[in-house]
Parts: sequence; C-alpha cells; structure tokens
Amino acid sequence: MTGRVVVVGSANVDLVVDVPRRPHGGETVLGGDLRRSPGGKGANQAVAAALAGGAATTFLGAFGSDDGADFLLSSLTEAGVRTDLVSRVDSATGTAFIMVSPDGENSIVVAPGANSRLSLAGEQLERIAAADVVLAQLEIPLEAVTAAAAARRPGARMVLNAAPSRPLPQLDLDVLIVNEHEAADLAGRSAAPEELARLLQRRAPAVVVTLGAAGCVVAEQEIVHLPGFEVSPVDTTGAGDTFCGVLAAALAEGRPLREAAERAGAAAALAVTRPGAQSAVPTVAEVAEFAA
Ligand code: ATP
Repeated sequence: MTGRVVVVGSANVDLVVDVPRRPHGGETVLGGDLRRSPGGKGANQAVAAALAGGAATTFLGAFGSDDGADFLLSSLTEAGVRTDLVSRVDSATGTAFIMVSPDGENSIVVAPGANSRLSLAGEQLERIAAADVVLAQLEIPLEAVTAAAAARRPGARMVLNAAPSRPLPQLDLDVLIVNEHEAADLAGRSAAPEELARLLQRRAPAVVVTLGAAGCVVAEQEIVHLPGFEVSPVDTTGAGDTFCGVLAAALAEGRPLREAAERAGAAAALAVTRPGAQSAVPTVAEVAEFAA
C-alpha cells in the first residue's frame, strides 16, 4: 500500500562557494565558482519521502515569486512531490549562503524569507486531514506546526523532526525525531542516547534519536539501538533529512516504527555515499537492494 505523507516545512536555495579560508570581520576573500542547489529541511524531507520512501507526498511550504521558487519547485516536482498547494508570499524565497573551507568546515547564513511567513489554511489543512503521516521540522513558524498537528485525522500520525534546536512548547506529537545534540537541548541535559530517548518520551510516545554512523535509538514501549549501515561517507549533508522522509513514508505504509527506522537508516546510509542533499537521495529500488 502506498502511504500518503504531507511534509510541512522550509525550502531554501543553497548558494555554495568554496573558499580558501573563511573571512574575518571586514575582510573579503575570493572564492571558487558559485553552486546553487535545492535545500531546506522540509523540501529535502519531501524529496526523500517520495523518491526513497515511495509515498504519495505533498509539500506544504511558502515561496516568494522569484526564480529561486521555480528552481526549488522543479526539484520537488522531478522527485514526484506534489506542490499544488504551496503558498506564494510577498517575500524572497528562503536562501542559505554557505561558505566551505578546504577542511570541510562551513559557515552558513540563512535568510528564511518566505519560510517565516508560512501560515496554513483551507485546502492545505484538508490535504493534511487526508494524510496518513504529517511530517514537520522547526524552520517554519511554530504556529504552522501546531496547526498541522491539529488538522490530522484520528489515526494519522504527527511526526516532528525537532531541528534546528529551539525552545518548544508541549505539542501534540506521535513521533519525535532528533539527533543527539537536539535531544540533549530538548531534554535540558546530556546523557546516553537511550536515556535521552526515554526522557523525551514526555514529549511524544515514540522517540527516535539519530546517532550518525552509529545508527539510532528507537524508544516506544521498549528502547532499542539499531546500528548504522557500514558505508564510506562522501558527504553527510542531508543524512538526517533522508532519514526523516523515509521513516515517515514507511510509517504511512503501515510499517511498525522499528522497521521504518531500519529502512530510513538504509536510505540515509546510501545518501551519505553521494554528494549533496536532494541530489543524494536514493530511489526506492536502490534502498531495497541495499537493505536486502
Ligand atoms: P545531518 O544534519 O548531517 O543531515 P543529523 O545530525 O540530523 O544529520 P545524523 O544522526 O547525523 O542526523 O544522521 C541521521 C541518520 O543517517 C543516522 O541515524 C544514520 O542512520 C544515517 N547516517 C548518518 N551518517 C552516517 C554514516 N556515516 N554512515 C551510515 N549511516 C549514517
């Protein structure tokens, strides 16, 4: 059965330039050629849910009326994501300015633009009410996350990837996904991942703490550690987004959380063997072959 996923979140044009070193205040540094790639946690996760997860996926986000919007929409559409209900607002499309130095370190400035104007209404809420899984992150106003959770139908699941870290009120969630740093921030202290997952079950009945190459911890009635798949990483950008999108798609298909997390781990491991974020997302067939 194909599940229905609605992703409520951000979309950004990533403008990337390699620099010999990152500039100090007041300094100008000459960099390499400018690269433009589609990004934003929401859009990345929607691409993953559709392409690697095989879900019938709708993306709900906000765009300006500039060519950045067209660029982002065509990447979503190519991956098979429905974009018929995205909002157009009077603001620039979200843009991330990324400088990468030879040691692989980066400095990033995000101009959220349209993302910070997302406000759900009408047909968007109806599409959410028809979904099996609603997936959101924290690069959009909290009101949009709350409205999405409130609009889901009984039996549908609300999954929140609480990234990037920010203070959170109590929300009506079914599944919370965080990496180790976000888990410690939300729990208010550092602890072993299993303990963090257990503490965060105050926030949601099911919690997944991702651990990079070490896999993830899944907490429901029991707490289990699922080891990572062994790969040679090329670029870990977007590993977390691939993980979240595929987990949501697998839940929407009716798979149990642990099985969904295993499939998500396989897809994310494949994604780290390829450069980029959306461009690194594997297909359903590639994930199935890799996990077999
Ligand atoms: P990012 O911000 O880099 O996209 P994240 O910090 O949100 O990622 P991670 O915990 O680093 O999330 O990674 C998410 C999942 O991706 C992990 O749970 C794991 O399944 C997979 N993963 C990440 N890095 C690797 C790796 N080097 N080898 C295998 N799997 C990986």
